[in-house]
Amino acid sequence: MDRRNFFQGSALLSTGAMLGCATPGVAQQAVKTPFAVPATYIPIVGSDELFPVRRIYCIGRNYAAHAREMGSDPTREPPFFFQKPTDAVQYVATGTVADHPYPSLTKNYHYEAELVAAIGKGGRNIPVAKALEHIYGYTLGLDMTRRDLQRFMGDQKKPWEIGKSFDKSAPIGAIHKLAQIGHFTQGAIWLKVNGQTKQSANLNQMIWSVAEQIANLSEAFELFPGDIIYSGTPENVGPVVVGDLIEMHIDGLPNLSVKIV
Ligand code: MN
Repeated sequence: MDRRNFFQGSALLSTGAMLGCATPGVAQQAVKTPFAVPATYIPIVGSDELFPVRRIYCIGRNYAAHAREMGSDPTREPPFFFQKPTDAVQYVATGTVADHPYPSLTKNYHYEAELVAAIGKGGRNIPVAKALEHIYGYTLGLDMTRRDLQRFMGDQKKPWEIGKSFDKSAPIGAIHKLAQIGHFTQGAIWLKVNGQTKQSANLNQMIWSVAEQIANLSEAFELFPGDIIYSGTPENVGPVVVGDLIEMHIDGLPNLSVKIV
């Protein structure tokens, strides 16, 4: 390899090294890797394009009654967020029932029905008044939770990742483009298990609106296109066991269904 090629190679390597931590959209075909790691995509309704998922953010305790059932005081708590790994996504096609595996290590596996906002334009320190301009579209999803492990770790003041951020912990429907669906500031959100209503609330009961979530998140993290935000669950979270059928609904979106296997 002559000197010129060597420096080109170095440039490619440094580009590759940066891929993991910066600049989504950098051409990946220039990078050689010893094995393939699949990227995460979610279908976009009415399009042959796929939505590439960069990060999954989730807000905690964003409905007052849910905050109370989790043992906190919703009137005094600023918003807080956690992440799930991108490959926690389990895409669930409309009209299908996806098999969702009961995870290891837990004996108290909970559903949380949530509106999900998909970011199409990034930014830092985004003002609330401009925040909705950053949304590409919406869908609905489940923030599946090993509640016993989340509580156990929380009680010990340890990170609760094992309770929240495990494989397939983020079942999610197809992304609906904003132009086709509009914003979601109110409307029913419910979840049934085996046909019996468990969660039933209205999106207008969120403590922090989606716009406020985007503004707040963007102060802590630079947002990028491809980020998605689980916007919190209402009260009456609860357990499922193998064989249970979960169906969730948000007014204006097709229902999402999974069967615990
Ligand atoms: Mn949640």
